[in-house]
Amino acid sequence: AKPVLEVSGLKKHFPVRKGLLRRTVGHVFAVDGVSFSIGEGETLGLVGESGCGKTTVGRAVLRLVEPTDGSIRLDGADITGLRKAELRPHRRKMQIIFQDPFSSLNPRMSAGDIVAEPLGVHRVARGKALRDEVAALFERVGLRRAQMDAYPHQFSGGQRQRIGIARALALNPKLIIGDEPVSALDVSIQAQVINLLMDLQRERRLSYLFISHNLAVVEHISHRIAVMYLGRIVEHTDKKTLFTNPLHPYTEALLSAVPVPDPAIKRKKLVVQGDVPSPVRPPPGCHFHTRCPYAVDRCRIDSPALREVVPGHHVACHLR
Ligand code: SF4
Repeated sequence: AKPVLEVSGLKKHFPVRKGLLRRTVGHVFAVDGVSFSIGEGETLGLVGESGCGKTTVGRAVLRLVEPTDGSIRLDGADITGLRKAELRPHRRKMQIIFQDPFSSLNPRMSAGDIVAEPLGVHRVARGKALRDEVAALFERVGLRRAQMDAYPHQFSGGQRQRIGIARALALNPKLIIGDEPVSALDVSIQAQVINLLMDLQRERRLSYLFISHNLAVVEHISHRIAVMYLGRIVEHTDKKTLFTNPLHPYTEALLSAVPVPDPAIKRKKLVVQGDVPSPVRPPPGCHFHTRCPYAVDRCRIDSPALREVVPGHHVACHLR
């Protein structure tokens, strides 16, 4: 499929400042050389523990934070370094759904106004046409027309996320970035929202970058999955391969925490100790060596590159 998003060598380093003079004393290496692409109608799941940089990747793609290095192409156009006004026509093509439908919707706006806002800002429609457009979006995401005048606090968590989805759809984007879009919802509601997103993808050839700390959540919706650890992608392949034949020890550890629905499938159990080290001073060599049960001397010195070890299967580990 035609690539909708191509990210290459993306880095985002945040300065750490101290004292009255706000001197830079170091950097948080939040994203440290990440590359991937997403085709039309495709979902890439981006997975990792909190602090691994996945949210910063999403924000850098949307240019909510300015990348330190690397390039971002959206729908064939290089949007890296574009100024705000130049970015505007491209910005419409990508939208975000946030994690927390409780805090991401303006409590003083009616649900209808929340969905109408992007249409108004981009002068797509007004008056009755605008109301009809919003009503159609409400119905498409499983809300009722009559609910347009209600306020966010009058909706359940799942319904609020539907409002967020309707708002994201309003400008007919090519790419939607979901930053933990179902993590705040009950499991049964999570499935409904994911199914809605999948239906919308089929209808509109939407591409998704689906960010989550939970492999079980991305499993259903993703075509490919990239696993991040301390600012880098450590494994990237299609969903089936990742779940049946993970090649990076960190992926193995993440999978050990995911229940296996079919008892006939035996998965290697790997439990890693400790927390993710600070991204301010990431361990030298392989970032994962402080927690990896297979680490050898070389791992403490040499940083493994992400290599295609089998066609379509990229892994960053010296032992592969
Ligand atoms: Fe473990 Fe070494 Fe592979 Fe890193 S490179 S994942 S430390 S075996």
